[in-house]
Amino acid sequence: MKKKKGNFDIFKDYVASGVVQKNRFLKRAIIKYLDANGNCTITELSKELSISIPKTTGLINELMQDALIQEQGKLDSTGGRRANMYGLAPDSCYFVGVDIKKYYINFGLMDFNKQLINQKDKVPFILENTQESLNKLIHLINEYVKEFNPNFYSILGIGLNLTGRINNKTGQSYSFYHFQEEPLSEIIANKVGIPTFLENDSRAMAFGEFYCGDLTSEKNVIFINMDYGLGLGIMIDGKVYYGKSGFSGELGHIPIFENEVICHCGKKGCLETEASGYALIRKFIERIKKGSSSSATKKNKPLESITLIDIIEAAKNEDMLSIELLAEIGEKLGRGLSVLINIFNPELLIIGGTLSETGDYIRLPARSVVNKFSLSLVNNDTVLKTSKLGEKAGVIGGCLIARNKVIY
Ligand SMILES: [Zn+2]
Repeated sequence: MKKKKGNFDIFKDYVASGVVQKNRFLKRAIIKYLDANGNCTITELSKELSISIPKTTGLINELMQDALIQEQGKLDSTGGRRANMYGLAPDSCYFVGVDIKKYYINFGLMDFNKQLINQKDKVPFILENTQESLNKLIHLINEYVKEFNPNFYSILGIGLNLTGRINNKTGQSYSFYHFQEEPLSEIIANKVGIPTFLENDSRAMAFGEFYCGDLTSEKNVIFINMDYGLGLGIMIDGKVYYGKSGFSGELGHIPIFENEVICHCGKKGCLETEASGYALIRKFIERIKKGSSSSATKKNKPLESITLIDIIEAAKNEDMLSIELLAEIGEKLGRGLSVLINIFNPELLIIGGTLSETGDYIRLPARSVVNKFSLSLVNNDTVLKTSKLGEKAGVIGGCLIARNKVIY
C-alpha cells in the first residue's frame, strides 16, 4: 500500500500572508489541542478554540488532506446522531531519539502519537572529544535514519542527548565536540538533513520519565541519572526546570565528601567521586587489585576495560563483589539525595539511568541513608522509586523533545 504523503507546511517557520497565515495558526492550534487532550469532536474543538463550526470543519478536512489527522471512530452518546471523533494520525510523521552513552548509542523512533515504534539499542560507539568521534556519530545517525527513509520519509526532528554542559536553546555543546562556533545541533542537522535539537542527557531522560514513565499526578519530581556520571532532572509544579542557560542539575559536582579523589571536573570531594558509575569502576578495580575476585572480570580482557554493563550483569548473577560495591554506591548516593530532599521536598524521587537496572541493590541502601540524614518531616513526603523505563527513558525523552520543538 502506498501511503499518502503528509503536508508538514504548518510546522515550518515562515510567515505567509493574510488568510494563509491565519489558517496555519489555527491548524497548529488544533494539532496542539488534540495532542494535549486526545481525540475529540468538531463541536468540542470549535468551543474550546473559539472557532466557528463551519470553519473548524473546513480546517479538519484540510488537516485530513494533509494526512496529519484522521477519523477515530464515533463519540459514545445516548440517542441522537453520534459525532465523529478526530485525532492525530500516528503514521503521518516521526521523530528520532539519539541517546549517546559512553560506549554505545541507543536509537529510537516515535510516531506522531507518542508511541515508540522502533528501538535499536547499544550500537557500539565511543564518546570521545575528537573529530573522529563526531564523524562516527553523524555516520551512525545517518545509517539509522536511512533504515526508515524508504517508508518513513517524514522524520521531522531528531532529539540528541549528550552528557555535559548543553545550551538547549542555542544547540551548543560545551563539554563535547565544541570545535567550532557553529552549534552542534546545526552541524548535525546540515549533515543529516533533518532539524536536530540538543539536550543534556539527564534532562532528556527526566523528560522521558516525567511524560511516559511512572508518574500519576505528581508535579514535584526529581530524577537521578546514574550512569558513568551523575545527573539530575528537576520538575517543579509540573514543569521541567532548566536554570538560566540550561546548566541546572549538576548534582555530581556538589562537594560533600572529604576524599583525595580528583573528579573529572578537576575538583576533589564531588558526590560523583563516590556515587556514580566512574566511582563504581574505580572501586571495583581497586578491590580486584587487592585480591578480591568477581565473575565480572574476563580472562582475555584487561581489568581497566571493565564496563558498567559487565558489573551490572555480574550483580544480576549474584556476584558478591558487584553487589557489595553497588550497595556502597547506594549509601553514598543517599547522602546526595538527602540534600535534594531537604531542598526540594519532592513527592517522588526516581533513580534512573544505566545503574538503575540494578534495582534494589542501589535503592535500598540509598533509602536507609536518606532516612538517617534528611529531616524526617521532609522525607516522609517523598517516595523513592527505581525507574521502570530504565535506559529507554533516554530515547523516549529525545524523541519527545524533538516532537515538542516541532509541534509547539
Ligand atoms: Zn566534580
